[in-house]
Amino acid sequence: MTADAPKDTKSGRWVVETLYEKEGFTCAFRADKVLYEEETGQQHLVIFENDLFGRMMALDGITQVTERDEFIYHEMMTHVPILAHGKAKRVLIIGGGDGGILREVIRHPGIEHVTMVEIDPAVTEFCKKQLPQISAGAFDDPRLNLVFADGAKFVEDSKDSFDVIIVDSTDPIGPGEVLFREEFYRAAHARLAPGGVIVTQNGVPFMQGDELRGTMEKFRRLFKVASCYLATIPTYVGGPMAMGWGTDDETLMAVSVDELTRRYEAAGLVTRYYTPEVHKAAFALPRYVEAHVLP
Ligand code: SAM
Repeated sequence: MTADAPKDTKSGRWVVETLYEKEGFTCAFRADKVLYEEETGQQHLVIFENDLFGRMMALDGITQVTERDEFIYHEMMTHVPILAHGKAKRVLIIGGGDGGILREVIRHPGIEHVTMVEIDPAVTEFCKKQLPQISAGAFDDPRLNLVFADGAKFVEDSKDSFDVIIVDSTDPIGPGEVLFREEFYRAAHARLAPGGVIVTQNGVPFMQGDELRGTMEKFRRLFKVASCYLATIPTYVGGPMAMGWGTDDETLMAVSVDELTRRYEAAGLVTRYYTPEVHKAAFALPRYVEAHVLP
């Protein structure tokens, strides 16, 4: 989709963000070089280069990942649940086709097994080729069990249990829609080992408050603790993004900064956004976000 490109652009093509089109808002990224584009059978996939954000991928016109700011989202979606859990050995990733979550998960030496369930092999195939720095070789890790399937069907059929489930999905449009339904959350809850936690990509509350509210209503029916935490990713426009938090273990959110620091150092992590202090602060919600979380 191409907007009317401003006069002084280097290239005639702009990739227009479609997420809020019906609400009358959009933004556009100049595609200085299109590296790959196809209709995969699941969704429209384009990988391109932009001067400001580096290599980027959009699915159905919605920005998924950029080279420049992906570290924020991938570090916060991964290290918050794993360090809060403290003894995680088995992780399930739903979605995450670009490999960024997987890259961060395998940095934890205590993780013994990662199952990753991605619906669209083309995303993984072309991100490995055109955005290799996102997965950084993680797909070769011997702990990985990579499954190409619908994540909702996987959790329905699986008998496996996991300490951490990370739902790195697209938005509730197209193939991602099923990952916001109560039956998916219920089946995922059944796959959590005692003391386990699920985190979900839950959109930008200032722009997508209904999405967060919908997940929280379902989480409250399924988990003892239903909340979210926040991180601000520049290319997910409209303010901080919410990461849904569901667990039956009330202690996980209360882990101290000192203990998180001990676990962070024991794992030998070096991060560019995550710190134990940021972890704790991320759960301090502004009133307008809290209004979507509370009954
Ligand atoms: N970080 C991005 C965000 O916050 O929107 C998400 C990135 S990742 C590319 C999203 C992945 O979810 C895509 O690879 C997409 O193919 C996958 N996906 C969408 N629906 C799915 C489903 N039902 N089961 C498994 N994977 C799914």
